[in-house]
Amino acid sequence: MYTLVYSINEEKSPETVYVNLTNACTNSCIFCLREQKDDVCGSNMWHDDKYTLEDIIEQFNKFVPTPKQVVFCGYGEPFLKKDMMKAFAQYLRKNHPEIRIRVNTNGHANAIYKTNVAEEFKGLIDSASISLNSSNAEQYNEICNPKIENAYEEVKKFIKACTNAGIEVTASVVTGFDKEHEIDVQKCKEIAESLGAKFRDREFITNGY
Ligand code: SF4
Repeated sequence: MYTLVYSINEEKSPETVYVNLTNACTNSCIFCLREQKDDVCGSNMWHDDKYTLEDIIEQFNKFVPTPKQVVFCGYGEPFLKKDMMKAFAQYLRKNHPEIRIRVNTNGHANAIYKTNVAEEFKGLIDSASISLNSSNAEQYNEICNPKIENAYEEVKKFIKACTNAGIEVTASVVTGFDKEHEIDVQKCKEIAESLGAKFRDREFITNGY
């Protein structure tokens, strides 16, 4: 069985574990680790999406004691497996209500499903880290190569939809991945804050997360 639940620092009892729901994504970012390596800290991240909720639970239960935080992340966009994500979040809420749940997302979910996905996850996820990645649509398209229309505007709308749903949002940019793309970090921060989100400048790390 491939890696569905993993930790990033090979600790035996990590406080945070990550859930790798899919390898599909509606972006193709130039800094995406999927283009460069197969693993995150030794865990092979490729799979074919043929797994069950029980498989996730089984891998999650191998982490003892129970982690304090679960993050939907991995080598792909977690919301593309929205129903599986919801099912595991519901399982956690029922069986481990003390666990904090976060999603790391490209922010395309509402555009993909043409519905308010943020509202669907109200109460099921505590926080979202949403990739803003640029201060303007042109540069966003260069960096992220999105497969959906008006992606940059959709990301901003999703940030707002999440904050409206009471989800704590951190909008992020990645810096330091090459010299050609200068990110206007201050402007990104202002955009994030105007949408009700916190902001994080995430320096590119080669190990993954
Ligand atoms: S949004 Fe994340 S998973 Fe998708 S291409 Fe970009 S870095 Fe990779």
